Amino acid sequence: MSKTIIVSNRLPVKITKENEEYEFKLSEGGLATGLGSIYQEGNNIWIGWCGMEVAEEDQSLITEKLHQKNLSPVFLSEEEIHFYYEGFSNETLWPIFHYMSTYAEYEQQYWDYYQKVNEKFKEAVLALAEPGDIIWIHDYQLLLLPNLIRNELPDSSIGFFQHIPFPSFELFRLIPWRAELLNGMLGSDLIGFHTYDDVRHFTSSATRILPIQTTANIIHKEDRNITIDAFPMGIDNDKFNKLTKNPTVIQQKEEFNDIFGKNKIILSIDRLDYSKGILQRLMAFDKVLADNPKYINKISLHMIVVPSRDTIPQYRDLRDDIDKLVGNINARYRTPRWHPVHYFYRSFPIEHLSALYSRADICLVTPMRDGMNLVSKEFIASKTDETGVLILSEMAGASKELIDAIIVNPNNLGEMYRAIIEALEMSEEEQKTRMRSLREVVKKFDINHWVKIFMDQLHEVKALEQSRMAKHANKDLILQFKNQLSSSKKRVFFLDYDGTLVNFKANPIDASPDEKLYQLLTNLNKDERNQIVIISGRKHETLEEWFGHLPFDLIAEHGAWQKKAGGKWLETPNLSDKWKLAVRPMLESYSDRTPGSFIEEKRFSLAWHYRKVEKGLGELRANELISNMRYLTREKDLQLLPGNKVVEIKNSEINKGKAASNYIFGKDFDFILAMGDDHTDEDIFENLPASAITIKVGSSVSEAQYYLRDVDEVRNLLHHFSS
Ligand code: UDP
Repeated sequence: MSKTIIVSNRLPVKITKENEEYEFKLSEGGLATGLGSIYQEGNNIWIGWCGMEVAEEDQSLITEKLHQKNLSPVFLSEEEIHFYYEGFSNETLWPIFHYMSTYAEYEQQYWDYYQKVNEKFKEAVLALAEPGDIIWIHDYQLLLLPNLIRNELPDSSIGFFQHIPFPSFELFRLIPWRAELLNGMLGSDLIGFHTYDDVRHFTSSATRILPIQTTANIIHKEDRNITIDAFPMGIDNDKFNKLTKNPTVIQQKEEFNDIFGKNKIILSIDRLDYSKGILQRLMAFDKVLADNPKYINKISLHMIVVPSRDTIPQYRDLRDDIDKLVGNINARYRTPRWHPVHYFYRSFPIEHLSALYSRADICLVTPMRDGMNLVSKEFIASKTDETGVLILSEMAGASKELIDAIIVNPNNLGEMYRAIIEALEMSEEEQKTRMRSLREVVKKFDINHWVKIFMDQLHEVKALEQSRMAKHANKDLILQFKNQLSSSKKRVFFLDYDGTLVNFKANPIDASPDEKLYQLLTNLNKDERNQIVIISGRKHETLEEWFGHLPFDLIAEHGAWQKKAGGKWLETPNLSDKWKLAVRPMLESYSDRTPGSFIEEKRFSLAWHYRKVEKGLGELRANELISNMRYLTREKDLQLLPGNKVVEIKNSEINKGKAASNYIFGKDFDFILAMGDDHTDEDIFENLPASAITIKVGSSVSEAQYYLRDVDEVRNLLHHFSS
């Protein structure tokens, strides 16, 4: 039976060594709890670093003990942790992904270790993985891992979730190893982020940096489709609800009541990090006291900063700056019985946090950037009496869901100041209205829901991918097609031209039919029961020149023009080409900037070709063109079709699928076959009846039922049909 393998940098366990004995304590964090429902079942397992350097002679003992808990350790040396984790992960990726590019270090040695440790994780996965297993990889420390596994286990199901933001292209491009990182991530079948902004940023970086194509939130890379989606992570809502009834929490809360009396408490809880906006928060609080003496003796900021990464200079500097500012505020406003800021530089047990959440009047969560931010959700889950106000930065992923919070821009000191005043003065009635709807969101989208929807979608994506893997039309199938053919009386063959009947040439006009092709098609068409239809994106003038003299039906410009054998070319009625006035200048600007590209004008479409452009550059420019044209095409009701080394823009009423289904309408064909190689042919495959034989050329990922590898295989099949 297949199993699920979770992989993250850290295992959800704390190991300590006392009197030569190892002690294991499972962590209770939200992620560990949510994934507990997966990794603790059956043969499932969680792979990760065990959190400490372990002497070689003790490694097998630790492995054995952890395996009993469905955990499997990766052992890392201090040096590996230093360069891969503290170095590349936290000094290169973290600052860039949190928009602090000036803090980023681009050290070759960091990168070397990052690759090496990702390889080490790959070995750990391969040692346990079997065909059919599902692998779910977590976070920015393991960006290379999906593709490392994909190379070894091509059919595996791989999901990846990034817990921190994905920055915009302009930031991400700064990383010297950006393409390698993207290729690493794209080994997955499904990539998840907390918000749609992250999805958008990732997709735009991927298409601007790699020569790949996208449709909506799906990236097409070689023969694979990768789905990119948003899965906002939740917390263990039940746990925070229940904690409020825990005797230790109740007692702790009473102690806080004794200390603070009726004073209003503003709560702030973060790890020490420059992305958290701690200094800006203190400045806003300072201004509240400076401009409103009435709050002296009446409000306090209770600020917990959990020590983190303080071996890194920027973190040490930040800690010193916080110390100074807190000292300064306290020195200026304190009274003999009252402190404005209660500052704690340490971590606290969850019961203590729960009591604080439930006693606090306001929770001030104002990061400069945060993937999600769980503190804001934990505060809400702890507010069982439905009072309290959340002030939340619009830069936190959570702000996309928690829309009833007071949302602020953390760079806008004035706005933060006003938000604090508004929160201090807010009526209980309004607090309750807002808190009720916030609590509903946090309850519904909890950690279990998050795990479920990610896993469900991973299954769905994989199943879809497998169903889209067409079968190779091998000898046996060809025999089966021939049997179908011989028992039928009225047959139609929809044949795409470029990439299907002939190979591509650098200059499209050079790809004219050769003598062998004429022979092959003429032989096939000789049988009166057979009708050949050439269905192409080419201009009707070109098809006329090449096939006009033969008894084939012709469909040109993806269906804008049609001609019956021996008849006249007919244009699809009521089509306009006025839109070309707006679109042409844009295409021209791309041609001017991209040597080797050119524009082809057809009656109802404009095509930008990049077959002759330097490899890679054409794809990147095409992606840029597509993203820039998106609004214009929507506004003018046009279709944007990425084809094989071409981007075509045409009236949305026209496509090969409509043309093919109109063609067969009312004609009682009992044998229908269609072959094509690119995106535009997918419309034919989708629109034909299920009984039709549909064949994709050059790729196995398609709506078609079958695939052939190349033009030679297409010609071979046609040869079988005419012999
Ligand atoms: N936290 C904790 N002990 C403390 C303070 C905070 O365990 O003394 C927890 C808090 O409950 C929350 C997490 O640390 O679950 C912080 O998560 P968040 O997403 O807010 O920030 P991150 O540190 O992941 O950037």
